[in-house]
Amino acid sequence: MNYEKIFSKVQTTINNYIDNGTVATYIPELGNVDATKFGVFLTTVKGEHVSLENYNEKFSIQSISKVLSLALAYGLEGEKLWKRVGVEPSGTPFNSLFQLENDLGIPRNPLINAGAIVVCDVLISHLNNPKKDFLEFVHRISGNSSITYSERIANSEKLKGFRNNALVNFMKTFENIDNDIDEIMDFYFNLCSIEMTCEELSKTFLFLANKGVCPFSKEKILSKSKCKRINSIMQLCGFYDEAGEFSFRVGLPGKSGVGGGIVAIYPNKYSIAVWSPKLNKRGNSSKGIEFLEHFTTETKASIF
Ligand code: GLU
Repeated sequence: MNYEKIFSKVQTTINNYIDNGTVATYIPELGNVDATKFGVFLTTVKGEHVSLENYNEKFSIQSISKVLSLALAYGLEGEKLWKRVGVEPSGTPFNSLFQLENDLGIPRNPLINAGAIVVCDVLISHLNNPKKDFLEFVHRISGNSSITYSERIANSEKLKGFRNNALVNFMKTFENIDNDIDEIMDFYFNLCSIEMTCEELSKTFLFLANKGVCPFSKEKILSKSKCKRINSIMQLCGFYDEAGEFSFRVGLPGKSGVGGGIVAIYPNKYSIAVWSPKLNKRGNSSKGIEFLEHFTTETKASIF
């Protein structure tokens, strides 16, 4: 597959794309990002890579980090995890509260905010120093020890974190939260604040395209079965109430974040990261989805 040629063809097409999206401002610091940025990076399991435009600039990965915290928690907690959080698509916005009451405080899946908050709680129960240990996990899977949290973004989100605080308090009333709420939320906001470039993001997620084995260190991060399950959850839940649409248009498991990043996995082939900060009404990068749709169309290959 000549990915380089396909990238430049899609780039030409995408140049005419009229992006009606807007940058997220509910986290004030995210509103300061240059909305015209656009970057792509693809890494194959064989070690080839292709890039476009601002692929080497850091951005806030936001909810994309929920897949990484899930991977670590699933490895530590095993199947017991699914007593605390489900695996069904929510069909609701990322920060929705209303299903939680019917579902007795068990979030539909680990990739919506409520589910990721429960995953943070599980991790705090397992780790001595959650923020430090989680970052070490990210360094291990990415082969890159420079990746870190952004204090600026974490604090900005903390100041406006009313909805997420409501979610954690609500789940506490259903006894689905064990640890100190302030500690959980500090951990959650820090996870969301991690910054990566498209290159770093694509490389960090490559283990999920490689049967759970880190392609750089050859270390087994997750069993084949757990890796399969995480990809399935991304397929069905990675884009909130737009998961069906992403699956329909792109045909790959993936995860978005309100910083405008998207990462998508083609098992046994590649991991691709796209960044374009303008979001559509569902909180997903509009140009990012557009690029990926054209990309899988041009490659004539998806998981289906
Ligand atoms: N930090 C964001 C929040 O909790 C994550 C949402 C997202 O990226 O979709 O609201």
